[in-house]
Amino acid sequence: MIEFRKPSRPVTRVFLHCSASDHRHHDDVAVLRDWHLKRGFEDVGYHFLITFDGRVQTGRALERHPAAQAGHNTGTIAICLSGGQNGQGGAFTPAQFDALRDLCAQINAAYAGKVTFHGHQEVANRACPVFDYRRELGLSAQGYLRAPRPSLSRSRTLGGTRMAAAGLATVSLHEAVALGEVASPVLSIAMQTVPLIAVSLIAVGLAVVVWARMDDHARGLR
Ligand SMILES: [Zn+2]
Repeated sequence: MIEFRKPSRPVTRVFLHCSASDHRHHDDVAVLRDWHLKRGFEDVGYHFLITFDGRVQTGRALERHPAAQAGHNTGTIAICLSGGQNGQGGAFTPAQFDALRDLCAQINAAYAGKVTFHGHQEVANRACPVFDYRRELGLSAQGYLRAPRPSLSRSRTLGGTRMAAAGLATVSLHEAVALGEVASPVLSIAMQTVPLIAVSLIAVGLAVVVWARMDDHARGLR
């Protein structure tokens, strides 16, 4: 997996493409570079190629505009996925989409969520890319990457903190601390006191039940 670094030129949009070849011997940025050089380009037109096995290969230098969306290259980054020869569904792999999501998330973070993501087809009369990029990336109508849902560990820690207030979260908190997700001394203290609070709540609850029964009994209701 590559580590994305912002180029110094301004970037506002990211465009997605597919190579339109399912051949394994075309599954390499060197092959695409060769095609593009033969067409008279100075270099491969894309900045990244994502291979069938989910590797992200670097193509054209990020400091340069791509040659990928005629008339819409300025201010963009171009990403190509191998595959898509036979239309929708193509021969794309889950590993490719995982790599694409990771790369786009990195780009989105580098630009603080201010870049939009598009298919080549939005600016050209051609079916590129031939996968449902809006669904794969979870794009808004304007092409923004939606804020990722809180990860499981984060929501568990948050939920656990809330539950601790009710004296019920000993397990979640212990788990979170054990996993190193929570380092706060406040939570460490909470972890130690939570069992006490829980036991107290249970004891009080039981006492109320017993008292109510005795009271009912005394009134001759039972
Ligand atoms: Zn394209």
